[in-house]
Amino acid sequence: MDLNVLKQSVSSSPAFVIDETDVIKTLQILAELRNQCGVKILYSIKALPFSAVMDIAKPYVDGFSVSSLFEARLADEVLRQGSEQPLPGQGSIHLTTPGLRDEELDELARLCTHISFNSLSQHQRYGEVAQAQTSVGLRINPKLSFLNDERFDPCRQQSKLGVALEDLTSLKDIQGLHVHNIFSATDFAPLLKTIAKLQQHLGAGLAELEWLNIGGGYLFRQIADLQPFVELVKKLKHDYAVEVYIEPGKAVVGQAGHLIATVLDSFETDGATMAILDTSVNHNPEVFEYQRQPELYEHDPMGSHSAILAGCTCLAGDIFGEYRFKTPLEVGDKVVFKNMGAYSLIKANRFNGYNLPDIYLSNSLKVKKIKHYAYEDYRQHWLTA
Ligand SMILES: *Cc1c(COP(=O)(O)O)cnc(C)c1O
Repeated sequence: MDLNVLKQSVSSSPAFVIDETDVIKTLQILAELRNQCGVKILYSIKALPFSAVMDIAKPYVDGFSVSSLFEARLADEVLRQGSEQPLPGQGSIHLTTPGLRDEELDELARLCTHISFNSLSQHQRYGEVAQAQTSVGLRINPKLSFLNDERFDPCRQQSKLGVALEDLTSLKDIQGLHVHNIFSATDFAPLLKTIAKLQQHLGAGLAELEWLNIGGGYLFRQIADLQPFVELVKKLKHDYAVEVYIEPGKAVVGQAGHLIATVLDSFETDGATMAILDTSVNHNPEVFEYQRQPELYEHDPMGSHSAILAGCTCLAGDIFGEYRFKTPLEVGDKVVFKNMGAYSLIKANRFNGYNLPDIYLSNSLKVKKIKHYAYEDYRQHWLTA
């Protein structure tokens, strides 16, 4: 839906809007990839574990990828909905996490079709028990860095994520390998290098595996030529007879989410125009955590009016950034932050007691409110029984 129409159609503010049409467009591209090369597709629900999104994804994907017991339970619940048991082969749940705990292992092994252990010691401790109920894999660390910020780099020095390839001396009791070493990539060069390193290290040993999960991190919608990916997966499947999985998160929902906010107040401060919004960085904590200015639909680089958009909490640094506008922003105006689908709502909180945004689902025809949090939710969270 056109963002101007969308702005007028939401009946409350702040509003987090999920564009169903956009999610489906991405899922269709991924499903077409599957047609071309047989890759299996999991939606990594940690980006936005909203059941509405998982329901939209369900017909297009082979399952979900999860990082914890709660995510595994939610994935299982969504996959089962409407049927007692998901059909065999439909509805894989893949888990990898550094945080496995004794008391959760049994249930995780029951819920997940695939578990990739994060370390050799984790595999040693839990592999045998898990093997009885699930397909056991190992997360490996290819030690190939493609990111210049080590906070997001799984292959940083002294990484906690995955087993270094040189430490992987045997594939005994291992049915699959998992590798995830990139964030927001817009070409496949990192993937090709990663697979080449894997082949160099394991050689024909790769044929002992049943599956290879090559992780998330690639923004398929923003990669014009998908052919290198198609060729790579075809070749892997042909040479080693392995199933190949991908588990994108941000690629599926990133650009399908918008945050619509309203200007509550506007004033001059030290020569700048400040506009206070009814949202805050607490609705998208990565803005503050990473000091990353989010894209604003109304921003016009040539606009002659500038304003600093700030959140409504007590934190001085609760600021989205400075933007330019064609006409001055007025109290009551709405603005739309774009590309807010991934890693925003899932990290959102009610700091200062400001409520979470209402959640809407939009398609080309209509906008529907699907969730509202009330004082009761806040109360429930913070009241000791
Ligand atoms: C976060 C994560 C993903 C999803 O990453 P995106 O960048 O959202 O595509 C997939 N697999 C693993 C292991 C992850 O940690």
